Amino acid sequence: MAVNLEAYHSITEELSDKRVTLVAVSKTKPVEDITALYEAGQRDFGENYVQELLEKEGKLPKDIHWHFIGHLQSNKVKYIAPFVYLIHGVDSYKLLLEINKQAAKNDRVIPCLLQVHIAQEETKFGFDEAELDEALGRIETESLTHVAVKGLMGMASFTDNRQKIAQEFAYLHTIFNKHAQRHAFDILSMGMSGDYEVAVLEGSSMVRIGSLLFGTRPSKM
Ligand SMILES: *Cc1c(COP(=O)(O)O)cnc(C)c1O
Repeated sequence: MAVNLEAYHSITEELSDKRVTLVAVSKTKPVEDITALYEAGQRDFGENYVQELLEKEGKLPKDIHWHFIGHLQSNKVKYIAPFVYLIHGVDSYKLLLEINKQAAKNDRVIPCLLQVHIAQEETKFGFDEAELDEALGRIETESLTHVAVKGLMGMASFTDNRQKIAQEFAYLHTIFNKHAQRHAFDILSMGMSGDYEVAVLEGSSMVRIGSLLFGTRPSKM
């Protein structure tokens, strides 16, 4: 069993002092590993792939909060709409409209975070600052009744340069603060295994940690 319960307990202790929520990122990991953390008390789990999430959701306890943290395609929203707890990576208004539509069909309001592009890499998804302003304006005027935009999510550059990572998270926190009051934001999702400590120092309220808890994953998944 690859689950590191010692790391789990020290991370949860550290985070609960700071009122930061831990999302345990279980992508590519078997249900046995998720069960081990569940039995240790963890309830928030994050997955990146719709098919994999559906299989796990069917096999695991119903009180798990499933976070979808990957890049979500509009045509797949319908599969996760009945149960998803929070969608972190909303990166277009079109996707938000589809989530709203599928949430309505399920008679739900689905909590979402808008993803902001803060890294230097072009490969990462998300709104830039101007696009975010525009999207939030539309959300206000078009009043989508089946989505609740609870805040922002971002991923820092993949680098060893802590100062650069800190700057990127600080920038996201500034954008968050700019909109927080007007839009009743209360979640700022930033920080992964390699950079969660920096993220917490820069004001994260939710971290997404995989490999520190479950061990490393094969290649780039
Ligand atoms: C995989 C993933 C994580 C967790 O990554 P680790 O480095 O294993 O902690 C967090 N956030 C997103 C969006 C991911 O895709």
